[in-house]
Amino acid sequence: MTAPHTYITTTIPYVNARPHIGHALEFVQADALARFRRQRGDRVRFQAGTDDNSLKNVLAAQEAGESVREFVDRNAEAFVALGPALSLTFDDVIRTSRDARHRPGVERFWRACAAAGDLYRKRYEGLYCTGCEQFYSPAELPAGRCPEHGTEPQRVAEENWFFRLSRYGDRLRAAITGGEQRIEPVGRRNEVLAFIDGGLEDFSVSRPAARAGGWGIPVPGDPGQVIYVWFDALCNYVTALGYGSGDDAYQRWWVGAGRRVHLLGKGVLRFHAVYWPAMLLSSGQPLPTDIVVHDYLTAGGRKISKSSGSAADPAALATEYGTDTVRWWLLREVPRVGDADFTVERMTARADDELANGLGNLINRVIAMIGQYRDGRVPGAAPVPAGGEDLAAACGQASERAGAALAEFDFREATAAVWAIADEANRFINRVRPWDLARAERGGDITAGRRLDGVLSALFGACVELGADLEPFLPDAAARITRQCTPRDGRLPDPAPVFRRLGATRLSRPVRVPEGSGTAE
Ligand SMILES: [Zn+2]
Repeated sequence: MTAPHTYITTTIPYVNARPHIGHALEFVQADALARFRRQRGDRVRFQAGTDDNSLKNVLAAQEAGESVREFVDRNAEAFVALGPALSLTFDDVIRTSRDARHRPGVERFWRACAAAGDLYRKRYEGLYCTGCEQFYSPAELPAGRCPEHGTEPQRVAEENWFFRLSRYGDRLRAAITGGEQRIEPVGRRNEVLAFIDGGLEDFSVSRPAARAGGWGIPVPGDPGQVIYVWFDALCNYVTALGYGSGDDAYQRWWVGAGRRVHLLGKGVLRFHAVYWPAMLLSSGQPLPTDIVVHDYLTAGGRKISKSSGSAADPAALATEYGTDTVRWWLLREVPRVGDADFTVERMTARADDELANGLGNLINRVIAMIGQYRDGRVPGAAPVPAGGEDLAAACGQASERAGAALAEFDFREATAAVWAIADEANRFINRVRPWDLARAERGGDITAGRRLDGVLSALFGACVELGADLEPFLPDAAARITRQCTPRDGRLPDPAPVFRRLGATRLSRPVRVPEGSGTAE
């Protein structure tokens, strides 16, 4: 039997600005999932990309007085650079304006929908938010303003191609209620069902090429129109697999994959849970199996946006405070439901408390004690003294608990399960006081010596378990812990700090604030 194939994607952000901490959240969540599934033996493909073909990018480039090509390339590179900065294990990154795989795939997709009779031309007038690249009905605009951007949409009248979304309400509903397409958390599932029940209207899937400044993919057979950026962008999930060229990666990772998991922010839920599945149904392809929605981060209590100027640059944060620090805050503190507020102080306080003081201190103490009391040689298994049951339980359950939490896409609970090992191990040390046992052993107490063996062996086991269980969440730290726990010529290396304390550097210099984009996508 071959290992299950799991395809995990992040949304492809607009590149009208540099990445901010909100983008890092989705990347790190997806990476933790990908690493965890790989560790469990799945075959995983972790896909990311950039959404280049947006009118929003064109406008931002014009505002910056740059050519669209240069502007888009520069920002896209900043997104791609998050890979190494945050230790993300992307298997592939697609750039929709650059990648030779994308355009033929979008064209094939378009033709498949056309062949199904789902595309038609219609004159249309409506309220358009360029920030969202979306038409809104007046009912959806509180005080006449975009709910995402707070700006007044433009009135646009033009002739466009439309997609017959109205045809797919029943099938989409059945896919969701029947479990074919899971949407998490459940509040988002209910939101999508309510939207479907409200009646689906056809949506426009092209723009006049003139309004798009010629940027984008021309409609096949109708070059006066370019394909709507959302139609174009959503296709990335299959064009990156070679849908346009009959590549077998498409068969393996889309058609044949056991799981097709999309991670996304709440602002683009409708596109991913309604429009995209309808497009897939129309073109005769399987639906995503899991749609996982995160809420937004605020920074310093304010929405992350260009105007608030409060967005933190994730690459700069990782350089200054460490990749582990950034990843740990995103995974450990951001709740599954509800917005979370990012501040550098909160991030460094958590890292000092749990990583430097909790985890780092534990590893350091255990390796140092084995060095001091046993000349760096890990004692063989010995009976663990009373009080070790809680530690044994934490070690025994961590992996399973983390797995159960990740099955629900609950990163906070998953990291809590692993963190419990360090917490119990530190408690165990304070309870059994190995230094007292060592003193008694030196005084000739053989029983104390055997008990010390048991204590050190249990603690060492906990450190090894931490090295393994932390890998999906803190891969860099996990590697350092595993190195500390790997004997050479029978002896452990000298203890070295696994984490540095950040308290002293916390306010050393302000974090560079990038030009954040208008949404947290
Ligand atoms: Zn908007």
